[in-house]
Amino acid sequence: MIKYIDIHSHLNLKEFNDDLPGVISRMNKQEVGTIVIGVDKKTSELAVKLSNENENIWACVGIHPTDSVDDFDEGFFEELIKNPKVVCIGECGLDYFRLKNEEEKEKQKELFERQIDFAAKHDLPLMLHVRPSKGTQDAHLDVFKILESKKKEYKDKLRGNSHFFASTKEIAEEYIKFGFTISFTGLITYIQDFNEIIESIPLEMIHIETDAPFVAPVPHRGKRNEPIYVIEVAKRIAEIKKISETELIPKLLENSSKFFNLKF
Ligand SMILES: [Zn+2]
Repeated sequence: MIKYIDIHSHLNLKEFNDDLPGVISRMNKQEVGTIVIGVDKKTSELAVKLSNENENIWACVGIHPTDSVDDFDEGFFEELIKNPKVVCIGECGLDYFRLKNEEEKEKQKELFERQIDFAAKHDLPLMLHVRPSKGTQDAHLDVFKILESKKKEYKDKLRGNSHFFASTKEIAEEYIKFGFTISFTGLITYIQDFNEIIESIPLEMIHIETDAPFVAPVPHRGKRNEPIYVIEVAKRIAEIKKISETELIPKLLENSSKFFNLKF
């Protein structure tokens, strides 16, 4: 059994090559599970492999808007999702922070739309990666335009989570309007900008994540992040929402297990 679920980690990246068994045994000891996220074909395959080998690991498969040279090969992903531990599609979305040129925007949109169609067809949620260019909300606004048009076609089959939420209250509310959830990382343990958003949005729409190996929370900042540190993110949400950890932790687990249909 698990008490916590880190809904977004990359245990499939090279940063974990040397000590993955240790990382997983620490997770088991602390009753932490995770969804391992693919960013391309190779890491998606690896996520599925890890989920098959470990009871408390699930997989998300797809193509990242900028971290991959792979195209969205539907046949390849159709094979992967036959595995019952694949629980979502992504991470996919729009990343204008690292945009090389304007033409790339159109390519990113096409790649994203293909994954939306695929997720809806197979009734799986999306794991969104959305990063606007500096000082703007441009990528989020384009995502909303795309979701608006797809919503007409797919209705409730269009669902997902906006990962690594680091935007404004208005943007958060817009995701919630689409029925999308929001997940927070260790960033909230040392930046106060999101307190008001966390306070105001319903707990049912929140998940916790690490995005390990990136952005370790306080008191582990600067080190490689790993899924057990999701406990620090939960603590911080309890503080901000002024509810006890004993009340919060089972609720967060329930949110994520329902949303991603995780079977224990
Ligand atoms: Zn990620």
